[in-house]
Amino acid sequence: MVLAPLVIDSIYSYASMRDGEKLLIVALTVWRIVHGQIWISVSRYLTAKGAKRIVNKSIEFDQVDRERTWDDQVIFNSLVIYLLKLYVLGTNTLPFWRLDGMALVVLLHVGPVEFIYYWFHRALHHHFLYSRYHSHHHSSIVTEPITAVVHPFAEHISYTIIVAGIPIVTTFLCGTVSHVSIFLYISYIDFMNSMGHCNIELIPRSFFSLFPPLKYLLYTPSFHSLHHTQFRTNYALTMPIYDYMYGTNDKSSDSLYETSLEQEEEKPDAIHLTHLTSLDSIYHFRLGFSSLSSHPLSSRCYLVLMRPFTIIISFILTSFSSRAFVFERNRFRDLTIHSHLLPKFSSHVCFYSLFSNL
Ligand SMILES: [Zn+2]
Ligand SMILES: [Zn+2]
Repeated sequence: MVLAPLVIDSIYSYASMRDGEKLLIVALTVWRIVHGQIWISVSRYLTAKGAKRIVNKSIEFDQVDRERTWDDQVIFNSLVIYLLKLYVLGTNTLPFWRLDGMALVVLLHVGPVEFIYYWFHRALHHHFLYSRYHSHHHSSIVTEPITAVVHPFAEHISYTIIVAGIPIVTTFLCGTVSHVSIFLYISYIDFMNSMGHCNIELIPRSFFSLFPPLKYLLYTPSFHSLHHTQFRTNYALTMPIYDYMYGTNDKSSDSLYETSLEQEEEKPDAIHLTHLTSLDSIYHFRLGFSSLSSHPLSSRCYLVLMRPFTIIISFILTSFSSRAFVFERNRFRDLTIHSHLLPKFSSHVCFYSLFSNL
């Protein structure tokens, strides 16, 4: 609803003045939400499998509720970009691509952005700011990709200025900003933020053996996980160089990285095998949308509007996969229970059982 005026104005601007830049802001917003949802689904699937998991603990319901508003940052950023387009850029348009602007964005990120973020993050861990603001983000010890964007509003403003503002505004003032540089830079920050909080060690050893200095330029999910479990180490945004420079790197970063990579798939004590029932039952799994999976028995009118999407996802799920796969993991005291999904509907299952009985 907050973005509805933006969407209407974007369509009107394109139809009346052939100004497609506002539509590009809408496209960027949709892409960021889809990107975030892909990370949620993939990381929940990998967490259920258990291989390369970093912190071997479950997520509490409180955390799921707290992180439901993860798209706040995307909405806020879109409104800021839209207002800048409206009042600063006006009817002028930006170039599609500029190599010099892209190079400047990279230099600004490695230099001022990472450096200022590092010291700002350390300041947030001072008890005055920590108790009022940053503790909200640190309430999640076992992180999910969307933990990355769950902050109080004041922090959202600060990150927008430091992380996105410095490179984009500087390149704009230098006249070298372009559509591609804005899109790639914001996507890069989203990707690195989500990866750092996914609680699965995704960076292979070969990356660091091929180019050892990469250790100072690329953080790993286990590196940032230590920031959430130890609180006073590994403050980096995406590049650990300043942690090593100022002695705040956690001494167990390398060993946790190795043990996480060696973590094998979990062997459950019991398996609950299930299959799809109604068309809307694809939304009952934790891998998808929490708001729908938490109320599987209540009917939502907007699911009717989502029917084309539901049919496409159901078709993909049932056509390209015939093997059951794990989608949920629960622990009851010492027992580990896995839920596996046979990607077939009730009608398929009845047909197969009838066929096998003949
Ligand atoms: Zn922190
Ligand atoms: Zn974090």
